[in-house]
Amino acid sequence: MYDTIAAIATAPGEAGIGIVRISGNKAIEIADKVFKGKRIEKLSEAEERKLIYGYIIDPEDGKKIDEVLAVYMRGPYTYTREDVVEINCHGGIIPVRRILEVILKNGARLAEPGEFTKRAFLNGRIDLAQAEAVMDLISAKTDTSFDVSLNQLEGSLSKEVSKVREILLKMLAHVEASIDFPEHDIEEVTYDNLQNEGKEVLSRIEKLLSTADTGKILREGLKTVILGKPNVGKSSLMNAILRENRAIVTDVPGTTRDIIEEYVNIRGIPLKIIDTAGIRDTDDIVERIGVERAKELVQRADLVFVVFDISHDLSDEDIKIAELIKDKKVIVITNKIDLPKKVSKEKIKELLPDKPIIETSIVEGVGLDLLEETLKNMFFSGDITIKDRAIVTNVRHKDLLIKAKKNIEDALNSLQMGIPIDCIEVDIKDCWENLGQITGDTVTDDIIDRIFEDFCIGK
Ligand code: GDP
Ligand code: ZN
Repeated sequence: MYDTIAAIATAPGEAGIGIVRISGNKAIEIADKVFKGKRIEKLSEAEERKLIYGYIIDPEDGKKIDEVLAVYMRGPYTYTREDVVEINCHGGIIPVRRILEVILKNGARLAEPGEFTKRAFLNGRIDLAQAEAVMDLISAKTDTSFDVSLNQLEGSLSKEVSKVREILLKMLAHVEASIDFPEHDIEEVTYDNLQNEGKEVLSRIEKLLSTADTGKILREGLKTVILGKPNVGKSSLMNAILRENRAIVTDVPGTTRDIIEEYVNIRGIPLKIIDTAGIRDTDDIVERIGVERAKELVQRADLVFVVFDISHDLSDEDIKIAELIKDKKVIVITNKIDLPKKVSKEKIKELLPDKPIIETSIVEGVGLDLLEETLKNMFFSGDITIKDRAIVTNVRHKDLLIKAKKNIEDALNSLQMGIPIDCIEVDIKDCWENLGQITGDTVTDDIIDRIFEDFCIGK
């Protein structure tokens, strides 16, 4: 159905092996032109999915390019549902590139980013939400977000969405039935059915949406800002967190950047710590980046760690900082408890009521465990696992769920107000369509293209 595509499937750089993947109805024919070993086309079924030893040559001059192991898989039981050949060659940039080149010269086209997965979708092997989960798997930053993506790949979201769409179809059937008898008002039983089913749809959509916040955190990391006036211990805190927890990605601080981001994994929660203070020590945030930008940063943060030094009296600056964050999710850190105490816990409570307060001595390593425990309870309280809570992790899915929620609410309202049933039908249909865009049943080509553009090449 589609042309034959090829790409390097492994990450760029030096490695033990590299893999070039070919997919399409000419995959085997093209591979046979460049592979010298047994003829792949003539291989028995028993040899399918087994590695075959041979060489890649350039058929133009017969020169060897690399010693390889090839494997072939006949569609439809492949990732793309097409014939697939994978060539395992020596890792490193040159062998994979030269093998890819000779494959392209012999009839394959270079795959676009995500095109293998796109074909898996277009050929009906996975739905759109599952294809998106593939991308999330690749870019997962913590074990938890990996588990959640795997769950989605297995269809957790798709199954629930399909269930809701089934109910909507039932509703449409009820609507159709009463449109056939226009002279009557909606029958009581139809009305009740629509009402009940509509409520069921709404509650299922709401339940899915309630997982989106957790999902977003897992996907993007909890945006966290460390605030406090100079010398209270912000850098020490940052360093202690980085030391005790696995840093996920470390940005190299650029000379022109005044804000450093670090990803850390604290008890399964990915934190994107925006380190305004910096490991570099000119760190009066307000002075350095300006009050407005500091406000902006705080506004965008999901969480603020605010640090006070309780070995000194609170200053105007401490109070100003507290003012800035009173409506945010905050963990208050009263640091330097190893020194004589000048500020009581009550005083801090007055300043920032209803926020958890953790007493620490960062230099002595006291209080950090409690800080992490508090953080975890703040976001994932209860005994439901994170995995089950985060069914929706994707912004696109969330937006569609919000639209679908509005549709079904409109339908329910209209029903209650006795608005003609064909108007209600429109809302139910819209709801059904919006949900279908999640799984890709009702999605347009340009949206599909946009989704797969974000993939990496070779996947
Ligand atoms: P920042 O300016 O807020 O980033 O503060 P720093 O982390 O640079 O710390 C300022 C000073 O306070 C340093 O000399 C730290 O060693 C010290 N400090 C940090 N935490 C503690 C603590 O818990 N107890 C004591 N006694 N000193 C601390
Ligand atoms: Zn500092």
